[in-house]
Amino acid sequence: MGVLTFLASRFVAGEGVHEAVEAVCRLNADGLLATVNYLGEAVQTRAQAKAATQEYFLLLRKIAEAEADSNISVKLTQLGLRFDESLCEQNLVRILEEASKLNNFVRIDMEGSFYTQKTLDIFRRIFTQYSNVGVVIQSYLRRSQKDVRELNRIRARIRLCKGAYRESAEAAFQLREEANHNYDVLMQLLLAHGNYPALATHDDARIQAAKDFAKEHEIAPDQFEFQMLYGLRQKLWPKLVKEGYRLRIYVPYGTHWLSYFYRRLTERKENWMFVLRSLVRG
Ligand SMILES: Cc1cc2nc3c(=O)[nH]c(=O)nc-3n(C[C@H](O)[C@H](O)[C@H](O)COP(=O)(O)OP(=O)(O)OC[C@H]3O[C@@H](n4cnc5c(N)ncnc54)[C@H](O)[C@@H]3O)c2cc1C
Repeated sequence: MGVLTFLASRFVAGEGVHEAVEAVCRLNADGLLATVNYLGEAVQTRAQAKAATQEYFLLLRKIAEAEADSNISVKLTQLGLRFDESLCEQNLVRILEEASKLNNFVRIDMEGSFYTQKTLDIFRRIFTQYSNVGVVIQSYLRRSQKDVRELNRIRARIRLCKGAYRESAEAAFQLREEANHNYDVLMQLLLAHGNYPALATHDDARIQAAKDFAKEHEIAPDQFEFQMLYGLRQKLWPKLVKEGYRLRIYVPYGTHWLSYFYRRLTERKENWMFVLRSLVRG
């Protein structure tokens, strides 16, 4: 195992589908739900998009065989969005068909803002035919309140996160406080009017705000879920479960972990500290 592979292993379950499903089973045994992502994005050829689609078929089958409590998370640029929107949509529909047969759910991750409208357009088209699909909204984007209101109206299932990409000031709030404030506003819209929202964050203040709002408005803990990334804030996981909240862990696997690993390092100094400590310990 190379040094980088070793370091990435904190955030990535492994290279193969078996390792991912094993990680999910361990999480399930601790009362946690999961969503598995096959790493990869911005593929450039039809063959790569087809290979990713087939990997998701395999993943869905392995989850079913293991009777694991996990859905899947996919990125549309991994299915061909960058070069052929209709091919991407066809690949997504094939994954959704397979997921429906296996009674599973597919979350479409949200990527950089260049893809936001395209992703939401595809989502809205397929959502008229498939109910086992949900999408992601990023609180750092200025457009997100409007998107959440529209998506709530059609009863879309939304994961709310802060957003992980570098964005212009025109598209996104640049100050952390603004994205945090917007997160709380969107959280309230989702808890009050949404369809089983997922609140993806490691931020204690955001989590507390959601708990407080839910209590105040008598929204039961099974009406929404929290979500966190594999390898982050593990000590908090059992606490939330013990308090009766549903918590889903995003479990990435595969060999294309570099962009994902880089995003985790650049968003938190704690993650750099982990890397530095591991290097010093040897
Ligand atoms: C399940 C899930 C799915 C996601 N899907 C997407 C997606 O589709 N598209 C997208 O753009 N982004 C996605 N993200 C990433 C997300 O947008 C953020 O980049 C990432 O979650 C960091 O934001 P945060 O809310 O955790 O808060 P941050 O602002 O990064 O952190 C806030 C606070 O959280 C605590 N904290 C955070 N990390 C740590 C740590 N490692 N150790 C200790 N304390 C910590 C600290 O108190 C910190 O001050 C997803 C995140 C999750 C959890």
